[in-house]
Amino acid sequence: MAAVPSGVEAYIGLGSNLDNPVDQVNQARAAIAALPGVAEIGFSPLYRSLPVGPQDQPDYINAVMRVVTELAPLALLRQLQQIENQHGRLRLVRWGARTLDLDVLLYGQQAINEPDLIVPHPELAKRAFVLYPLADVAGADLVVPGLGLLSQLLTACPADGLRKLNS
Ligand code: ADP
Ligand code: MG
Repeated sequence: MAAVPSGVEAYIGLGSNLDNPVDQVNQARAAIAALPGVAEIGFSPLYRSLPVGPQDQPDYINAVMRVVTELAPLALLRQLQQIENQHGRLRLVRWGARTLDLDVLLYGQQAINEPDLIVPHPELAKRAFVLYPLADVAGADLVVPGLGLLSQLLTACPADGLRKLNS
């Protein structure tokens, strides 16, 4: 049996709406799981969601991955950004279409406020496509630092426009 990894539990949000988004998300999952110092311990179902911001872009595929990591928060973010870049992501339009978006949603119970990294992710409570898959992998009794119980955040955020993909 594989050794139980040590480190901090973190949650990563995955999103894509270009170049076969389901493949993008699955490949990113594999790339994250292969990072040294990162072990996957859970993965949500895939969801389809309507775009935030400009509406003239395809629907998104979203998921949340639960990991245990020995990486410091900023080191984890840098590794995720490398994976984004390897997937050819271009940052042209804010909230515009992208092949891959990887966000650090939660890092243990830490609240982080650095120029490049804000955790919990600042949009987390507003985004059904984050909250619902997060509940799938974490359980609704998760406490989100500074925001309270995930179950309460879910109640305040309707799942409009969010659909679980048939697997
Ligand atoms: P969004 O994910 O909001 O659609 P981007 O991925 O383009 O937008 O945002 C990238 C920027 O957000 C990066 O410069 C990164 O430093 C910053 N950032 C701040 N907090 C986080 C976080 N928790 N996860 C990912 N990126 C973050
Ligand atoms: Mg991002």
